[in-house]
Amino acid sequence: MIAEKVTERSYANSMGEGRGNFGAISLPNYTVAIDASMYPSVAKEFRTYIQKITGTAVRKLVLTHYHSDHVFGNQIFKDCQIISSRTMATEMRKVAPAYWTREKLEDTAKTRPDIYGKLDINTLEITFPTEVFHESVTLEDEEFKIIVKKVGGHTAGSAYVYFPAEQVLFAGDLIFAHTFPWGGDLTVDPDEWIDALKEFCRLDIQKIVPGHGPVCDSSEVQVYLDFFEQVAKIVKELIAEGQTREEVVGFDDYPEFYASGTSERRRDTLAQWYQVYKARAQRNVK
Ligand SMILES: [Zn+2]
Repeated sequence: MIAEKVTERSYANSMGEGRGNFGAISLPNYTVAIDASMYPSVAKEFRTYIQKITGTAVRKLVLTHYHSDHVFGNQIFKDCQIISSRTMATEMRKVAPAYWTREKLEDTAKTRPDIYGKLDINTLEITFPTEVFHESVTLEDEEFKIIVKKVGGHTAGSAYVYFPAEQVLFAGDLIFAHTFPWGGDLTVDPDEWIDALKEFCRLDIQKIVPGHGPVCDSSEVQVYLDFFEQVAKIVKELIAEGQTREEVVGFDDYPEFYASGTSERRRDTLAQWYQVYKARAQRNVK
């Protein structure tokens, strides 16, 4: 089984088989896939499975953000509408020629066999969104609606997918459930990320499919929000005291947050949040 049933009409794979989580919402006349994982082979298996159990074809793929572990499987949905925020599509078109050429990917694969071993670079076709929206878009079928909304935060153009009929939120990488998030993207915006979490608090949510980690509920949003607000406050205070990037990253009195917070993810995240807040502080001084 490549997907678990989350609610009557929603499905997810949160086992890490595709690196990034992915899922689907089954509407009466068609199915909407959400993110495509890192591996076309996994996306293909998922699409076959989901079409079989729902009895409807996947006609649309919605992307939460441009990271490879959510979009490298896109080619399996080439015959579908591939929907993203305009900002996300722009970011994807920027990174593709810079990092996703065959040569670059082959180099990266050598250093990260754990991630790239499962990726067939020779048959990978980088597949871009075919439909973009500015702020939000609503997909409708009979009495059902799926709301896709751009919020930014984890990346410029990050979006969430909300299915009000069953109160399910596909949060993309705005939530890494039960683990420390990766917040080191060059386009990360911690303030937008905090605002996105506050927006989640205002939605009626029974189940959350995060971008990584297991399916969870709205209590995880509060855990994330509390931690992010505290870290943002500390980073800004340390910058105001004149501390350097290394000092901010090495500061040892951040609140406890899941065990993997000691890893590379934590370092990347703090370093990039420092950059964002430092640039803002300098702008304010001028
Ligand atoms: Zn991501």
